[in-house]
Amino acid sequence: MVAALVAVANVAPAVSAAPTQDPTPAEARARQDEIRSEKARLAEELEPLKATQAEMEQALAVLDEQVRAQQARADDARRAADDARQRAEDLLRQQLATEHQIDELQGRLQERAVSAYVNPDGRMDDTERLLSVDDISELDRDKALLDAVSGSTEDITDQLRGRKEELADLVDEQRAAQAEAEEWQATEEAALRELQAAEENQQRIKTVYDEQVRGIDGHIAGLSAEEAEMEKIITDAEARAAAQAEADRRANAALSGGSSSGGSSSSGGGEQAFSGPSQITGTAGPGGCIWPLPGAKVSRGFGGGHPGIDMYAPHGSPIYASVAGEVIFAGWNSGGYGNLVLVDHGSFVTAYAHQSQVAVSVGQQVGQGQLVGYEGSTGYSTGPHLHFEVRVNGSAIDPDGCLGTST
Ligand SMILES: [Zn+2]
Repeated sequence: MVAALVAVANVAPAVSAAPTQDPTPAEARARQDEIRSEKARLAEELEPLKATQAEMEQALAVLDEQVRAQQARADDARRAADDARQRAEDLLRQQLATEHQIDELQGRLQERAVSAYVNPDGRMDDTERLLSVDDISELDRDKALLDAVSGSTEDITDQLRGRKEELADLVDEQRAAQAEAEEWQATEEAALRELQAAEENQQRIKTVYDEQVRGIDGHIAGLSAEEAEMEKIITDAEARAAAQAEADRRANAALSGGSSSGGSSSSGGGEQAFSGPSQITGTAGPGGCIWPLPGAKVSRGFGGGHPGIDMYAPHGSPIYASVAGEVIFAGWNSGGYGNLVLVDHGSFVTAYAHQSQVAVSVGQQVGQGQLVGYEGSTGYSTGPHLHFEVRVNGSAIDPDGCLGTST
């Protein structure tokens, strides 16, 4: 039992501190695994504790039953002792009353004997009347009176003495019975106290167990709550990933000339405030395109596996729609474009990638030179630049054909 308590006491330091920052889904999964093994370990520790607890509950129920039965025996014994005491006292009272009667009777008869002797002609009651016979001489009468008085005194007092002795014997007997009953009572009460002490002790030990079990149960409940939290982080991340996969699918479909359009509303970038005119006028190139990033320098041209041109301007510079059209994608693309805007011009689509922040939403009609976002370095990008593409039926063509010579 002590070993079990020590083992339980070791649980407390194993509690992990709650993370101060929101964990990533991978961290959440790892923490979930930790929590599950911790819960399994606690459940294993709890098992013998709960078994012991159940045993103790049973033992306590048995003890409780014993205490009740013993209480009944002690009550019986106490009642018997009380009765015996009461009977002894009654007998003693009778004995004392008899003694008193004897004393009183003796005193009274003595008085009368003296009175009859001293005043033989005086009125006398029962004893004298009995003796008022004519043929008895005065002397005889006196003698007879004395005899009668002393005789009846003796008779009555003898009777009373006999009764008194009888009562004294009964008192002795009853005192013995009382002592026996009291001894029985003491024995039963001692047994009761012993059982009650045992029960109290058992209850104390069980209380310690109960506290330990409650502590572990509380710990498990806390872990379960944390586990649910981790689950929410994971499902939220999964929902976000699913939404992003759908956005990517739509972006790819749009880039490859499909009809599907859409996008994620997430900017994917910082909440930095960028600014610039919301509309510019530019000189359109041979294909009708204006420069989407005014003043930018071309840092990489089209071709050799590069489906667009890269243009460089200070980070956060405003990006403008090269041609008027409908925004068919605006948001995060996890395929490498980062924050991406796709504008459909009917016969072709322009793409504006790696933005720090997009400024339009799907379905929006934009005019040529209208602000669509801000230059950045999101997605697969090594530094701030605009990756600009022109696609016809899903195939990337050299944007120079539309833009003309770079400024
Ligand atoms: Zn590029």
